[in-house]
Amino acid sequence: MSSVARFSKGGVHPHDCKQLSAGAAIQRLTAPEVVVVPLAQHLGAPAKPVVEKGADVLKGQVLAEAAGVVSARVHSPVSGKVKRIFETPAASGDRVLAIEIANDGKDQWVEGVQLDAADADPALTPAQVLDLIKDAGVVGLGGAAFPTQVKLAPPPGSGVDTLVLNGAECEPYLTADHRLMLEQPREVIAGVRLMMKVLGVKRALIGLEDNKQDAFAALTPHAVDGVEVKLLRTRYPQGAEKQLVEALTGRRVPPGKLPFAVKVVVQNVGTAFAVFEAVARRKPLVERVVTVTGGAVASPANFLVPLGTPVKLLLEKAGLDEERCAALICGGPMMGRSFRHRDIPVVKATSGILALTAAEFTPREEQPCIRCGRCVDACPMSLVPCDLAANAEFSAAEDAVGADSCMECGSCQFVCPSRRFLVQWIRLVKAQRRRIKK
Ligand code: SF4
Ligand code: SF4
Repeated sequence: MSSVARFSKGGVHPHDCKQLSAGAAIQRLTAPEVVVVPLAQHLGAPAKPVVEKGADVLKGQVLAEAAGVVSARVHSPVSGKVKRIFETPAASGDRVLAIEIANDGKDQWVEGVQLDAADADPALTPAQVLDLIKDAGVVGLGGAAFPTQVKLAPPPGSGVDTLVLNGAECEPYLTADHRLMLEQPREVIAGVRLMMKVLGVKRALIGLEDNKQDAFAALTPHAVDGVEVKLLRTRYPQGAEKQLVEALTGRRVPPGKLPFAVKVVVQNVGTAFAVFEAVARRKPLVERVVTVTGGAVASPANFLVPLGTPVKLLLEKAGLDEERCAALICGGPMMGRSFRHRDIPVVKATSGILALTAAEFTPREEQPCIRCGRCVDACPMSLVPCDLAANAEFSAAEDAVGADSCMECGSCQFVCPSRRFLVQWIRLVKAQRRRIKK
C-alpha cells in the first residue's frame, strides 16, 4: 500500500460525517417536467444562447455557445421545447440568465451520442481529444467549474510533466466523487489517460484521502502505465490545488502562481469521468452526481441528476424533514453557501446539497478577536487571517498583504473561538483590494 502523504502547513480535521451517504450507491434521478439551465455554470463569461423560445431541442443539443476563451458550452439535459429565457436565482444568491425547457419525456438524444461506447478511439489525436472536451462543455466538477479545455492547454514553455487528480473530496459530508471512483474506476482512469494524452505527460497521480480505502482498492488495478493512486492523510483542505500538489509531488506552488509554475495540471476525478464520456461516448455534460445528505434527510443519497433539476426535488427524494432542518447548504459545510430558495437548479458545480439539523449547524454570533492565534496555525497558506479580517473591518485594505492568496477554505473560521466571520471579512478585503488596483 502507498505511504500516506499530506501537505505541510495548517489545515483542520472537522468530523467528516461522510458515513451518512458513503454507502449510498449512485442512483439516477428521472428528469423533471421542467428544467432550468443557467448560462453561467462555469468560471468565465456566461455562454450565449443559440436557441429561442418555442424551439424544439434534443437531449445533448447545444443551448448556448461559449462566449470567449474562458467560457463553456451549455447543452440541453432533456428533449423538449424551450419555454423561455429568463433570470432565475442561483445558489450564489445572484440572479442569472437561464433557459427553461419543458421536458417531452422522450429522452431523445442528439445524433452522434454513443452511450454504450466502452473506450475512446485510440486514433484520436491530442488536438481532437481537446476539441471533444470543449464541444461537450466539460468544466471542473470539483467546485470551481473552470473550463477544462483551458486548463488542459498550459502556457507554451511551461513544461508540464505531471497530471494530478483530485480524489481527496476533503469537504465533510460529500461523497459524490467517492462513489464515482468506487463504481466507475475504469472510466475515471480512462478519462485520466485522455487528459494525459492531451497534455503529453507520462505521469498522473490520483490522490485520495485515507478515509476512502474502498475507492483506493477499486482504482488501483486500473492504475498502470504511469498512473498511480496515492493515499493522503485525511485533513482539510487536502483537496485544495496547492496542498494536493505538495502532498503528491513535494513541489510547492509559489504564492500568486498556478500549478503550471511547478509543471503540474490539476483536475478532479469527476472531471476525468466527464472527459471519458465526452470523448469515448460523445456525450455532453448534461448530468452530474450530487450528494444529498445531512441529519435532516431520512435517506442520504448520491443522485445522478440532470442539470437544471430544482434542488427541492432532490431534497424531497432524500426525505427532507422540514421540522428538523435548520440550514440548507449548497456544496460542503466549509466552502459551500447557505441558501433558502429551493427552486435553484443543479448546475455543473453542484457537488452536494446539505440539509443540516440545529445540532449540525449553529448560527455564528461574532465576538471580538482575542488574539489567540489559532487561525494563524490553521491557515494552510501561511496567512494571518485575524489581521486580514481587521484590515477589512477598519478599511485598511492596502495593508492586507497576502489576502489575494486566500483560497477561502474556511479553516481559520472553523477553529476561531470568537466565531469570527473570517472568510466573509477576507472576501471583503479582497474586493476592496481589487477596487484599489483598478
Ligand atoms: S480561508 Fe484563507 S485565511 Fe482562512 S485559512 Fe483558508 S486560506 Fe487561510
Ligand atoms: S482564531 Fe479568532 S480569536 Fe483567535 S486570533 Fe484568530 S480571529 Fe482572533
